[in-house]
Amino acid sequence: MLAARLHLGPQRRLELDEVPIPEPGPDHVLIKVEAAGVCLSDVHLIDGTLSPLFLKGDVVTLGHEVAGTVHTLGPGVTTAKVGDRVLLQAGEIRDGATFTRGVDYDGGWAEYSLARVDTLVPIPDDLPFEQACFIPDAVSTPWAAITATADVKPAEPVGVWGVGGLGAHGVQLLRLAGAAPIIAIDPLPAARERALEFGADLAFDSADPDLRAKVFAATGTGLAAAFDFAGVASVREQAIVCLAPLGRLVLVGLTDKPITIAYGTAFSFFQQQLRGHYGSGPEHVTQLVKLQGLKRVDFSRSVSAVVPLSDAAKAVHALESKEGNPIRIVLKP
Ligand SMILES: [Zn+2]
Repeated sequence: MLAARLHLGPQRRLELDEVPIPEPGPDHVLIKVEAAGVCLSDVHLIDGTLSPLFLKGDVVTLGHEVAGTVHTLGPGVTTAKVGDRVLLQAGEIRDGATFTRGVDYDGGWAEYSLARVDTLVPIPDDLPFEQACFIPDAVSTPWAAITATADVKPAEPVGVWGVGGLGAHGVQLLRLAGAAPIIAIDPLPAARERALEFGADLAFDSADPDLRAKVFAATGTGLAAAFDFAGVASVREQAIVCLAPLGRLVLVGLTDKPITIAYGTAFSFFQQQLRGHYGSGPEHVTQLVKLQGLKRVDFSRSVSAVVPLSDAAKAVHALESKEGNPIRIVLKP
């Protein structure tokens, strides 16, 4: 079978390899992959800014955003049937540690992929695989950031910095959570336009010198919750000074750059908070499949392109260079 694999040797590279179709062991099934998302984390794995924690060996099939059908059952598997339409949780717990699919073990950028039965999430028949595949991570990460880490309440004024793959879903999900107003901030005019289409009340340019004044004019108090989906140091500095008393800034986008709090005394006096956020729990994925099934959310606008698996490298390049400002490019084996 064809698999897009990351070779981690001295010179990291993504290669299209012909590899044997794996056999499912106990508690596992073989998935016929129908769709797999291309994520910024994949870009970072290839460019070396992210590295696997638990991978054995130095080659891994990428892809942690995966949907398909159950093709073969492993010995003793009774909780799944051949033909079941599923998406796969983006990781699994092994010996107390979280292993990430497509990072610490082979993922779904291939024609077939192994999955432990407890990571299968059934999807409704009317949910296309292209839309289901990126619910784990691209949607579940902002959902967990909003509902768990930030614990956003209805009618709370919120700000979203960075309206790319995560931020665009963040805006939609904040609308569902009842946040108001929702203010989106992004340097790209196309991203700001999209934020308004996805449910933001206002969209501002991060380069606007009057941004803070405009946020306070729109909210009266400042932001109860702000989200950095971009992972950019200057964004964090800008968001902190837009917070309301008791406001919290949630850091979702990843960067190792230092965080500067310009007005430390005010930050303390107003008892504001910085909260780190990473990934999501399995429950966030099942909640989103349920919400999609009951038409509370719609991910059809998130599929920016569907390309053959053999074009994986092109898709990575398009995401990295923000060509056409994609939300999700989906690989189809
Ligand atoms: Zn991802």
